[in-house]
Amino acid sequence: MTTATMSKPSVGFEKLSMRGVTRSYAKAAAPALSHLDLELARGEFVALLGPSGCGKSTALACMAGLQPLTSGSIWRDDVRLDTLPPEKRGFGMVFQNYALFPHMSVQKNVEFGLSMRRVPKAQRHERALRALKMVQLEEHAGKLPSQLSGGQQQRVAIARALAIDPEIVLMDEPLSNLDAALRIEMRTEIKRLYQERGLTVLYVTHDQEEALSLATRLVVLRKGVLEQTGTPQEVYTNPASAYVAGFMGYRNLFPAKVENTGPGDDISVVAHGTVLHGTSRAASGTANGAAVSVAIRPEDLVVAGQSTGNSIKAMAEVVEYHGRELSVQARTGPDTVLHLKTNEPVVAGAVLHLGVVPDRVLVYPADDGEETVQPHV
Ligand code: ADP
Ligand code: MG
Repeated sequence: MTTATMSKPSVGFEKLSMRGVTRSYAKAAAPALSHLDLELARGEFVALLGPSGCGKSTALACMAGLQPLTSGSIWRDDVRLDTLPPEKRGFGMVFQNYALFPHMSVQKNVEFGLSMRRVPKAQRHERALRALKMVQLEEHAGKLPSQLSGGQQQRVAIARALAIDPEIVLMDEPLSNLDAALRIEMRTEIKRLYQERGLTVLYVTHDQEEALSLATRLVVLRKGVLEQTGTPQEVYTNPASAYVAGFMGYRNLFPAKVENTGPGDDISVVAHGTVLHGTSRAASGTANGAAVSVAIRPEDLVVAGQSTGNSIKAMAEVVEYHGRELSVQARTGPDTVLHLKTNEPVVAGAVLHLGVVPDRVLVYPADDGEETVQPHV
């Protein structure tokens, strides 16, 4: 292994594919993962996103070889991977709990994967040091994991994954045990390594913000089924369902009745004591009077001095100061509130007119909303 091959991006494959991958656990009624088709082109950073229990870890464990498939197959180009043991698949892996050996030095921990692969001792030492340098921990090589902070331990785990010089890195919620500040720092670190090393990454997270900032493509799962895939921009501005919208920070998700439809995808609905003009995201189920789900982002509600063409009357109820902006909960009726973000000097008790452009009022078929969650607001 020369410096040249360590520092150059790998060019050994075109794509990694999961084909119809299904995984059922013994006693569970529904499969944890159902017929997942997923293709990663070399150089992509794909984030598997969804709430707890939707099958993200199962998908990653199937890819890694830590869980057997119930059906389906996994391929790197035309090499079948799902029949190979984990260490033969050539993936670097990083998990939520760093899983470092407490009695081994940082250096030995990073060398571990190389020993497993029977790399000669002299090379092991050099490659481990190089990997530690990548995560800026070379001066800590002789320490025990317990002598490092949580962020440093996670960087050791990343160094261990990179030491085997993998083309593909699998990560399962690698930042979720870190505090907020460290999480953001490590996020940047992961992105830097991804760019510098020319890696291909499959990354599991339930954190919308993390997925948006890291990934080149998002894959949103719901109950073990792929719900939407697209670039962060596509999924963020154009969620395919109320479920995805809820996950993408459309904190205002409410039921409504269709008042009128057309032309095109124009639609008007009755909600919050008014008729609201919006954009239909449904192919069917939007007859007049039909029940629908409406999604609006807090930042798309604009505080206006008076009623405008498309606005909702509300009373500011809770006002939170967030530095650059205020986060406001505004009441529109006995059982209904809206959430908005604004730079206007809103005070609790003020009567507001909340304007919104029809483009940013997304109307979906009525959703059972069962797993619709809003992780970030
Ligand atoms: P996520 O990572 O998105 O939180 P998981 O892949 O861990 O989801 O879990 C998906 C579903 O499979 C859940 O309903 C979970 O309870 C179930 N599950 C996960 N691991 C096991 C297991 N080892 N045995 C039985 N059921 C499991
Ligand atoms: Mg998980």
